[in-house]
Amino acid sequence: MARRRSGGITIKSRRDLNMMIEAGQIVAHAKANMIKAAEPGIETRELDAIAEKTIRKLGAVPSFKGYNPGMSMPYAFPATICASLNEEIVHGIPGRRRLKDGDILSVDVGAIYGGVHGDSAFTVGIGEISKECQQLMDATSESLDIGIARVRAGGRIGDISNAIQRHAESLGYYLVKQYVGHGIGYAMHEEPQIPNYGKVGNGALIRKGMGLAIEPMLNIGTSDTKVLEDGWTVSTADGSLSAHFEDTVIVTDEGPVVTTRLA
Ligand code: MG
Ligand code: MG
Repeated sequence: MARRRSGGITIKSRRDLNMMIEAGQIVAHAKANMIKAAEPGIETRELDAIAEKTIRKLGAVPSFKGYNPGMSMPYAFPATICASLNEEIVHGIPGRRRLKDGDILSVDVGAIYGGVHGDSAFTVGIGEISKECQQLMDATSESLDIGIARVRAGGRIGDISNAIQRHAESLGYYLVKQYVGHGIGYAMHEEPQIPNYGKVGNGALIRKGMGLAIEPMLNIGTSDTKVLEDGWTVSTADGSLSAHFEDTVIVTDEGPVVTTRLA
């Protein structure tokens, strides 16, 4: 039986749109609390505990904990956040690793509230970081902003992808191609895929009411990735540094509404 091809989910009601904003704000609070705590000496599992506590206190449930996409993953994701250090790109598992001065940590966090999801990521410098790290982080967050600025009902996903690609590559960085952004709403991962590279006018149609999780991942040395022995953590193939920023955005007639930044 063939599955009907979908152009992406659309949020069905005003109530659910408002819930998307609520879910996003809960994620934004979790991010703010982690950023305050991200100092040399803290373990990544402590940041995970801060995020889980914030999300549950605000009446939501972590999206990632127990998430099992099936396919090749050996077990469900065991934590509220993904904590990916330095050359790690995404899906790092928080644990006893202690952050040191000069590290950069990419944190990904999601929550479900009222039946809908928010998903967001950021990279934070720990203590004093190098100029190289700061430039990589700035380029990645700028790429996200530039991608979000291309979100327009009636446009194409490729418009977003292309803007991200052009900015990152103009600064000499490599984009991760194996992992992509995604539609989001009633499920965390929905159609359409949102690659961080592409052509203007290509890809799925962007429609009013769609939720989009846009998430550029920029590397210093290569686009190639590898999965570590734990089966989850994705690292750059060459060990070069990586940064990741992500926001959840709703497409409206008035333009993109970013749910996962503090209002
Ligand atoms: Mg995410
Ligand atoms: Mg995501």
